[in-house]
Amino acid sequence: MLRTLKVLKEELSKLDIPLWVEVVEKRKQVPERIMGLLERWGVRHLYSNMEYEVDELRREGKMVRLCADRGVAMEVVHDTCVVPPGRLKSGSGNQYAVYSPWFRTWVAHVHDNPELLEILEPPSRNPQGTREVFGPLFDCQIPDHVEGKTLPSEEQTRFRALYPAGEHEAMKRLEMFCEEKVGSYREKRNLPGTPGTSNLSVHFAAGTLSARTAVRYARDRNNTKKLNGGNEGIQTWISEVAWRDFYKHVLVNWPYVCMHKPYKPEYSNIEWSYNADHFEAWTQGKTGFPLVDAAMRQILHTGYCHNRCRMVVASFLSKDLLIDWRMGERYFMEHLIDGDFASNNGGWGFAASVGVDPQPYFRIFNPLLQSEKFDPDGEYIRKWIPELAGVQAKAIHDPYGRGAEALARKAGYPEPIVEHSGARERALTAYKRGIANG
Ligand code: FAD
Repeated sequence: MLRTLKVLKEELSKLDIPLWVEVVEKRKQVPERIMGLLERWGVRHLYSNMEYEVDELRREGKMVRLCADRGVAMEVVHDTCVVPPGRLKSGSGNQYAVYSPWFRTWVAHVHDNPELLEILEPPSRNPQGTREVFGPLFDCQIPDHVEGKTLPSEEQTRFRALYPAGEHEAMKRLEMFCEEKVGSYREKRNLPGTPGTSNLSVHFAAGTLSARTAVRYARDRNNTKKLNGGNEGIQTWISEVAWRDFYKHVLVNWPYVCMHKPYKPEYSNIEWSYNADHFEAWTQGKTGFPLVDAAMRQILHTGYCHNRCRMVVASFLSKDLLIDWRMGERYFMEHLIDGDFASNNGGWGFAASVGVDPQPYFRIFNPLLQSEKFDPDGEYIRKWIPELAGVQAKAIHDPYGRGAEALARKAGYPEPIVEHSGARERALTAYKRGIANG
């Protein structure tokens, strides 16, 4: 974020537009701090981007009242989603809680409202003399770190190389993806060992790429020039970007999901395990389930892992370990470079069967089968678990169960911390009981 702000400051500076960054210790200080600045600068008009999470909406509500009291006009714009929340309703006038019919309506709505994909030109250069008038505002220094949240320098270097900041970088990545990979996206998007996805989530989360720009760019490369039909890779990719909109619509329609509550209230009474050793093993990639461990180590090292792996590790935590999904949700938000409340909450709701997904709770991923299916040659596992690099063929998915135990033990790779079929039975019983008491 801080690197992104620095790039933005440089870009705006070329147009003689200042960027001022304030760091506040507590979120609730934000409204008063902004009001103080407005007063100091004699501002009469305030614009902001809408954030839909409950705390952010409360903050915005407070800002509206403060601005009204002090004679400042406030205007909030919807920029996060392609289709602003609240617009899409089913034939019976209800909010959608299922993705597929929602997506069909989303596509039709965007076709009928082409202005949703229009992109404003960047602002022009400020008139001469502005720099003199706003002089001190240009002096704002963007900090290199926020107190108490500094990364060790080795990590800073790594993250800088992995995630170059700024909207030009985002655009470059989008162009490259559409040029080289989107055509095979449909076939490859589920394979963590083959980098077939866009890796653009970091830019969506940082605000350096809008969903609108991404969807428009991909649509224009489709031979139908539409969101549907034509190139299957492009269609599929657009439908994935739409999931981001979907989960934001969900949290606007059911705001209690922002308050640590499951979308399905009847899932509120599951008796979770709070086994600290198991949770620790999960976070460190030491569960003895190679695909789970590879993904968790990738998150530790890069702040990212593939969508298929996110589903597998989230299902493993909430079902195999029966650990409260909210602990995983929070861990992801603390560690993901693309952390986005709505997508993360939606993903955890899906994996733990407590969210909008209509599948019942007894869909429980088998981590070994997932591994065989989506990382058949073990390429991904070998990359992230060097201890297992020498394990051959199918034993890579389950070294202790398939004859590679001597090698795994010698290399210090842990034995499985649970046995899947027993863990599955335990989860089914706990969910059933929880729902009965719900
Ligand atoms: P691509 O496959 O190239 O997809 C393009 C874009 O579509 C993504 O960048 C993302 O913005 C959107 N997208 C794709 N799949 C999903 C999805 N299932 N839900 C919502 N948006 C999607 N995504 C986040 O951006 N932030 C999160 O904090 C986050 N947490 C997740 C937690 C769990 C448990 C799960 C199962 C999924 C989570 N996702 C999250 C969704 C998804 O895993 C990532 O968006 C995706 O892996 C990013 O990689 P990519 O940019 O290469 O995706």
